[in-house]
Amino acid sequence: MNLLNVRWIRTLLSSRWFPIVPQLIMLAVFGLLIAGGLGVKTPDPSFAKVLRNTNLANLLVWSYWWPLVIVAAILLGRAWCMVCPMELVTSLAGRIGLRRKVLHLFKSGWVITIFYTLIVIVGIHGLSLHRIPHRMALYLLMLLSVAVVVGLIYEKRAFCSYVCPVGHLLGLYALVSPLEWRADNLSLCKSCKTKDCVVKKNHYRIVGRSCTSNLYPATIKDNQDCLLCTQCLKACPNNNLRWSTRWPFADFFHAIELRAAQVGFVLLVSGFIVYEILSEWPVSKAILTWVPRHFVGSLGITGPIADSLSAVIMFIVFPCVLLLAVLALAKLRSAVPYGAIAKTLALLLLPTMASAHLLKAILKMTSRIPYWPHIFSDPTGIVTAHKILDGRLALDKSVLNALYPIISFVAAALFLTALLSTLFIFRKATAIRNLDSGAKVPLLLGVLVYWSIFGFMIFMWRFYF
Ligand code: SF4
Ligand code: SF4
Repeated sequence: MNLLNVRWIRTLLSSRWFPIVPQLIMLAVFGLLIAGGLGVKTPDPSFAKVLRNTNLANLLVWSYWWPLVIVAAILLGRAWCMVCPMELVTSLAGRIGLRRKVLHLFKSGWVITIFYTLIVIVGIHGLSLHRIPHRMALYLLMLLSVAVVVGLIYEKRAFCSYVCPVGHLLGLYALVSPLEWRADNLSLCKSCKTKDCVVKKNHYRIVGRSCTSNLYPATIKDNQDCLLCTQCLKACPNNNLRWSTRWPFADFFHAIELRAAQVGFVLLVSGFIVYEILSEWPVSKAILTWVPRHFVGSLGITGPIADSLSAVIMFIVFPCVLLLAVLALAKLRSAVPYGAIAKTLALLLLPTMASAHLLKAILKMTSRIPYWPHIFSDPTGIVTAHKILDGRLALDKSVLNALYPIISFVAAALFLTALLSTLFIFRKATAIRNLDSGAKVPLLLGVLVYWSIFGFMIFMWRFYF
C-alpha cells in the first residue's frame, strides 16, 4: 500500500511548508530543552542519578525523545530525520557555505563511528551527560554547532550523510521497517528528461531540493540513507514517488553490504545495548560488570576515567571477543574472507539489537511515569531530587506495578520475534545461503549466543524470580 495515495498524507508531505514548519517547531523545542538543562548541574553522582528523572528537559530528552526516535525508526524508517532541526540548520548553512567536496575519511564512515564511540564512552559513561542536565544541554548545543560548521564547509547534506551518529543508527534500524520510500514507476524515471530529483542546480533550493543525501530515488536499494525529507517528492514533476508498506526486514533479503566502519558501529551498539538491558536487573548487571569492575579496581582508578574504561571493555572488548570467536571458528573450515563474515555477523545482530532497543525504549518511558506528578511544580528538578533522596517524597509506583506483566509479555514477544526473524533471514537471505557451511555454523552460533544473553536474562528477570 502506497501511503502517498492517502490524500491527507500526500497533501501534507507535498506541502511547501513541510517539513520546514515541523523542523522550526522542533528547533524551538530543542532551544527550550537546552534552556531547561543549562545551569542545572551537580558534582554528586548519586544525586545525578535522581536528577536525571526530575529535571523536565533531561527527562524529555533521554526518556522520551531518544526512545521515541528509535521506535519510530524501527516502525517507519528514518521518520525523525523528516523533522530533525539539525537537518534544517545544516541545509541552511550549506546554502551560504563553501560547498567543499567531502573528504574520503568522512565517506568511509569512520568519522561517524568514532564520533559515536566518543559520545557513548566518554560522554555518556565518563561524563554522565545523560544524567546531568547541564551536560545534556551542552551536548545538544554541540550537535547543533557541528551541524552548522559541517554545513558551512562541505557540500550538500554532509552532516546527515557522514557525521550524525543519530541518523546513522536510525538508518540501520530503518532496515527493519515495514515502510520504504522509493520511486514508483521506474520506467518513468528512465524516460524522465529533467531528473529534477538529482540535478545539481536544485541542490540548494529551500523547497523541492534534489537529493542531497546522494540518492537517486529510482535506484534506492535499502532504507539506510533516505532521510524521508520529502524534497524529491516536491522536486519530481511526475509525482513519481511512493512511501509504501512492505514486509518487515525486507532489506535483509537484498544485497545489503555494510562497510567496515559500519561493522565497528554495529559492534559498539551491540555492546551498549547489552549493557542497557542487563543493567535493568541488579543480578545481570553485577554479572556483566564483574570483569570491568575488577579490571578497573586492579588499576586503582576511579571517577570518569574508570567509567570510560569500563565502557571500553563492555562496548568494544566484549563484542570483539564474540566477533573473534566467530571468525576463528569460521576460518577452521571456511574460505570465506574475514571481512565478509564480520559484515554478515553485524547484519544478523541487527534484529536482536532492534528488539533490545525497542524494549529499552518501553522500559525507559514507563519507568519514568512516577516522576510526572512532580515535574511541573519543579521543572529544574533540584528540589524534587532532594526530597526523594531525603525520603520526604515517595514516588507512586502503582501504575508501574500494574504495567509489569504487560511489559514482561511484550519483552518476551519482542525477543521471540527477533529470534524467528533472524532464523528466517539466516535461511532465506541469498547472501547468507551462498556462504559455505564452515562459515554459516559459527555465524549462527555467534548470533544465537548474542540473542541468548537477552533471552536468558529476560526469562530469569521477568518470569523466574
Ligand atoms: S541524519 Fe542526523 S542531523 Fe540529519 S536529519 Fe537525521 S538525525 Fe537529523
Ligand atoms: S530520496 Fe528523497 S526523501 Fe530520501 S533523502 Fe533523498 S530527497 Fe529526501
